[in-house]
Amino acid sequence: MTTQDGGSWYETGTEGMGAEQQRLDSQQGPGRLWIPGGKAKECVFVDDEPICIHEHNPKMNGNYRNQMTCLQGVYDEVVCCQQLGPSSRYYCGYLTVVDCSEWKDQRGNTHQYELRLLQMKMKALKKFRRKKEDRSSVIGTMWNFVREDDRSSTCGDEWEFRRVVEMDKMFPFANFRGTKLIDLWTEAEEKPETMVRVKHWFQIEADAEGKLPKVIPPFNYFEILKPKDPKDMRLHLGAVEKDESSPSSNGSSGGPVKEDQVPF
Ligand SMILES: [Zn+2]
Repeated sequence: MTTQDGGSWYETGTEGMGAEQQRLDSQQGPGRLWIPGGKAKECVFVDDEPICIHEHNPKMNGNYRNQMTCLQGVYDEVVCCQQLGPSSRYYCGYLTVVDCSEWKDQRGNTHQYELRLLQMKMKALKKFRRKKEDRSSVIGTMWNFVREDDRSSTCGDEWEFRRVVEMDKMFPFANFRGTKLIDLWTEAEEKPETMVRVKHWFQIEADAEGKLPKVIPPFNYFEILKPKDPKDMRLHLGAVEKDESSPSSNGSSGGPVKEDQVPF
């Protein structure tokens, strides 16, 4: 049977499930560090060489949790800049932190020691560079991140050094989306499909015996932040609220933007 216009819209068997799981994983993304205005959080740096990219964050489905890596320089068809305007893209860097402060979500679940993506726009990147230069490395150090008010950066305006942390002692507490890394590692060592997911999320490799090192790894930015292809991007941008996506309301300058009101 030949394929008609519209291409293949179904798959037989269960082979496609792995790809679907990957798609769901990439849609969900790891939690980002978000500090409520007027509050502080104690965070430990897992790495200290930020991966820097250009991204857009249009308002979609009523929120600003839609960070997407810009396609400029990656594909000839730069769908994001065509649809959202090139000035809506901004420069930012990513690191991995452990959020050591206990907090409750809207459903009343308690969270602590969760791995979070730390996004830094230009101002925060400069601050980070200064802090790192002072100490040569900030890996395994705890800082108090204070966010003065809703208009300041979601990663806080003031970062105060607290102490050096023994990362191997923190490992048993560290968790990812509510699952302790230690349990996730054990599952990955038994189930190949979990190992695939762990490697999708984290920069980590198993040893010759298939065991994962008991360390807190940085996120696998190269998968997590990988740009969509133009076709997926076009589909994805279908949900952009046109009147809200103009560059003027979109924080292209890296200044205070509406996304700061979103508690994630
Ligand atoms: Zn773009």
